[in-house]
Amino acid sequence: MEIPEFYGCDVFDDRAMRAALPSKIYTSLRKTIDNGERLNSDVASVVADAMRDWAVGRGATHFTHWFQPLTGITAEKHDSFIERSPDGGVIMDFSGKELIKGEPDASSFPSGGLRATFEARGYTAWDPTSYAFVKGKTLYVPTAFCSYTGEALDKKTPLLRSMDVLNREALRVLRLLGDTEVRRVRPVVGAEQEYFLIPKELYEKREDLRYTGRTLFGAPSSKGQELDDHYFGAIAPDVASFMEEVNERLWRLGVPAKTEHNEVAPSQHELACIFDTVNVATDQNQLVMEILKETADKHGFACLLHEKPFAGVNGSGKHNNWSLATDTGANLLSPGTAPQDDVRFLLFLCAVVRAVDKYQDLLRLSVATASNDHRLGGNEAPPAVISMFIGEDLAAVLSAAAGTGSYISSGRKTMELGSDVLPDIYKDNTDRNRTSPFAFTGNKFEFRMPGSSDSIACPNIMLNSAVADSLKKFADRLEKAEDMEKEVHALVRETLEEHGRVIFNGNGYDKGWIEEAERRGLKNYPTTPDCMKHLLDEKNVSMLTGLGVYNIAELESRCEIMLENYCKSVMIEAKTMVSMALKEIAPAIEKYTGDLAVRMAAKTASSLETACGFEKNMIKRLSAFAEEISEKAFALEDLITETSTEEWVTEAEEIRDKVLSAMEDLRSSCDAAEKITAEEYWPFPTYGPLLFGIR
Ligand code: ADP
Ligand code: MG
Repeated sequence: MEIPEFYGCDVFDDRAMRAALPSKIYTSLRKTIDNGERLNSDVASVVADAMRDWAVGRGATHFTHWFQPLTGITAEKHDSFIERSPDGGVIMDFSGKELIKGEPDASSFPSGGLRATFEARGYTAWDPTSYAFVKGKTLYVPTAFCSYTGEALDKKTPLLRSMDVLNREALRVLRLLGDTEVRRVRPVVGAEQEYFLIPKELYEKREDLRYTGRTLFGAPSSKGQELDDHYFGAIAPDVASFMEEVNERLWRLGVPAKTEHNEVAPSQHELACIFDTVNVATDQNQLVMEILKETADKHGFACLLHEKPFAGVNGSGKHNNWSLATDTGANLLSPGTAPQDDVRFLLFLCAVVRAVDKYQDLLRLSVATASNDHRLGGNEAPPAVISMFIGEDLAAVLSAAAGTGSYISSGRKTMELGSDVLPDIYKDNTDRNRTSPFAFTGNKFEFRMPGSSDSIACPNIMLNSAVADSLKKFADRLEKAEDMEKEVHALVRETLEEHGRVIFNGNGYDKGWIEEAERRGLKNYPTTPDCMKHLLDEKNVSMLTGLGVYNIAELESRCEIMLENYCKSVMIEAKTMVSMALKEIAPAIEKYTGDLAVRMAAKTASSLETACGFEKNMIKRLSAFAEEISEKAFALEDLITETSTEEWVTEAEEIRDKVLSAMEDLRSSCDAAEKITAEEYWPFPTYGPLLFGIR
């Protein structure tokens, strides 16, 4: 079958709805989806019936409300469609009530004190703006998840709220600029997903990969990524057939998988989908991660989504391409041909500049996890300091609009490629900047800090809210303005004066930049415990609660959960290291030294003691390593025992300072021992086969 024929066949999308629903019901549902209008419950019953028939027709026997608790992954609880019928048999049933509301026993999801375990009630509510789909034998209904008292226990609810406020404030600004046509402004996002593929049989042999998703030990292999020969390299046949199946499964689910290529590190790849409204893009990215893992397993691979699975080579991120689209088809961040005269573009650009500077702490903490801390600040990913790249051209446009500089459009330039057979190509106004955490890339911003394993909900909640806050401030000002044009230029000038420090068009990996950033007063929060507490800073609480994106209890609970998550993740890693060091690594070294000693004894018995130089040397060194490793492992074990598991939140900094550094210390001894231990004795696969095992 051709792609357009099967694309979206497993989704109850617009085409399926139009075919299955009476036109009045369809129109009413469409209004909810397009304009955010409240859903009528009579409509829900009709939709539920149609959805069930459609799903059963596609082989579904079960349905589930699909939600995104604060764990970062998705959750589901399956119920079959069967109901007893009066004749003693069963019928396939799915009511409007079951579609709209679910009640999973939610006591074990993290709630950060929002819902005591004895008050275990949690509700899921249908999100009609994200389409239901069939995967396997189950109908998945995307839902929001909240507590009995209505607090959001998930990532989707605040995301939907942030989209609403952004729409509201953007429309206010547009109206003030005289626009009467646009009825809805929605943030759209395209996420680029990076991941590693390694042979499954090697993955199974490493406790660290299975429990924590990353290697906690491992000396670098002789070859790493220094030749850059993997980046955009030819895709290996086994990987190509894996990608083919991933694409087909995603297309069937209506997920527009578009671009795929090899990434910088060996065994690293990327998959990008065509952008969509941010809540849809968020749901779709969760599906992308699930399908990557499931399909890898079928093909004899393990897919690693961890941000830093291997030391010494690049980690994985998830670039979040964000812009603002109107229902009339305009992109509010598109500069057009004369950006200097385009007040709408100037205002929306300034709204983002102000948002990124004023709420840099929120953006940083929205991507903070124990695993992403390893990546931010490494030499491949953006630094932990937030800055923004807009390019020389736009910088000149802004200063011209502020009246502090001049701008002459350089126009579209053709590139001279020096060969008549090559077609003329136009040059982009600005070159790409690959080192900025937040880069303008022509008509959208690319936020590069989100981690590869995390949901993109949080960064987009913060981004939407912060930009809404700027637009609200601008609208309040413009409402009182007598001369609109003059006021816009004043706003551009003030934005540059107050927030221009966040614009940095240079190299973000440069060490000197961190010092320069500090001079500019930009925040540098290298780790999760550094930034997470700032969620509750007065400035941030008042913005987020003022806009109605979170209430204070929801914010407090999130702060607690994120820190708890951080601590638990590090502690699981620490325990795994102790176990591997004492039960696998030290015994392997001892076995090798034991065998060397036997050989030495045999040589001595044959009067060859002068030929024992190698054995002696190795035994001496390896014994020292074995002793060092056991001591360091016991020291780490003691730290684990001493750490209180009651008060995670206050422990986070302790854990970072003491546990993480003891882990590094233990690793360095083990990695040094690995380098001199005969290959056959080492208890698990090393970096070489892991990184270069797929051809
Ligand atoms: P890169 O060169 O940055 O690696 P990719 O092609 O891998 O680019 O990814 C770019 C992503 O940006 C895609 O997901 C694409 O759909 C998305 N995108 C393109 N235009 C927009 C836009 N106006 N708003 C949001 N996302 C966009
Ligand atoms: Mg890309």
